[in-house]
Amino acid sequence: MNNSDISSTTREKHRWPDAQGRYGRYGGKYVPETLMYALDELEAAYRETAEDDAFQTQLADYQRHYVGRPTPLYSAKRLTEYLGGANVYFKREDLAHTGAHKINNALGQCLLAKRMGKPRVIAETGAGQHGVATATAAALLGLDCEIYMGSEDMERQRLNVFRMRLMGAKVVAVDSGSRTLKDAINEALRDWAANVERTHYVLGTVHGPHPFPMICRDFQAIIGRETRAQLFEAEGRLPDMMIACVGGGSNAIGLFFDFLGDESVRMIGVEAGGTKIAPGMHAARFSGGSLGMLQGAVSYVLQDESGLIGDTHSVSAGLDYASVGPEHAYCFEHKRIEYTSASDQEALDAFQLCGRLEGIIPALESAHAVAEVIKRAPDMAATDIIVMNMSGRGDKDVQHAARFIAPGEDS
Ligand SMILES: *Cc1c(COP(=O)(O)O)cnc(C)c1O
Repeated sequence: MNNSDISSTTREKHRWPDAQGRYGRYGGKYVPETLMYALDELEAAYRETAEDDAFQTQLADYQRHYVGRPTPLYSAKRLTEYLGGANVYFKREDLAHTGAHKINNALGQCLLAKRMGKPRVIAETGAGQHGVATATAAALLGLDCEIYMGSEDMERQRLNVFRMRLMGAKVVAVDSGSRTLKDAINEALRDWAANVERTHYVLGTVHGPHPFPMICRDFQAIIGRETRAQLFEAEGRLPDMMIACVGGGSNAIGLFFDFLGDESVRMIGVEAGGTKIAPGMHAARFSGGSLGMLQGAVSYVLQDESGLIGDTHSVSAGLDYASVGPEHAYCFEHKRIEYTSASDQEALDAFQLCGRLEGIIPALESAHAVAEVIKRAPDMAATDIIVMNMSGRGDKDVQHAARFIAPGEDS
């Protein structure tokens, strides 16, 4: 069996979600009637693209010449040697244009918007990374672009607001609620309902109402498909373990999806452990969450007994969210993916170690995955292989990290 055979077998076995957009008891589409039509239209248009060679060719062309794909699969030799166990590889999404995996989804959805004849895209953003990716793809394709962002987040992420504006996007401040991500999502959904004829909503991760989790996953799954081919070329076999950080879950499912049918591959999703696994101090939905509904989908949610959405905390803004994509909830329930967390301190330590040993400064989100590699690799055999998703680069985080660490000043 060659590797493309294995790949298609994997996809065959994992044809979820079902027709209602459910992954077992998770997922679905719980939205007002006005949005039902838009979601159905989106799903129909998306399904057509699978058969549309012109669309697929155009997407592949932009992935190659604009995003810079395939991103490298890099053998992290000094980290491997330092940890003294499994062979560690990084999938280098940090080297994709704009410095993270989010462009894969933003580009795919903006191309889809164009195909649907919609001249305008909107998006929500928390830390600003998805807003930047969407503004980038919109500029590339000549689409009008408006980004909803909580005014509190705008204050904290001024540089990303500037970036979006540089690329011609309008950034709309959201002053309701906690003036952060979940309020921005609500505003974006409201805009979409009002302007659906000429507007596509570019949702940023594998969450929200069906078909968004499926569409975003499929656009991110290129990460795993490339990894499979690259690892077969380098090692001639499957990895023993794959590790990725989990915010909404898009970079993790992007890496894992093509391998879900390969039972020998262990998969570990790393959530934000924050300062402590106690209410309000973390964003580890599988440690402190329960079944609930947020933003149109059923999944694990951090909430109190009456269903009030809990506060979250993480040193990394991209992992700081009260819910997680429904496909992850399904994989958690079925024990296909194991979920754990890394604390703020563990992520900051990994952030520094990775810079020192590999000359790669990871995004603070990705540093949570590095922290898990540091815990796992030493107990594994030298013949074992770990592939970790380096979801983004840390340039955006150095100023924030400097508040907590003082490299070179210790010892
Ligand atoms: C946004 C972001 C994440 C978290 O989002 P997922 O949907 O879970 O991938 C992780 N890493 C980086 C670099 C990000 O920008």
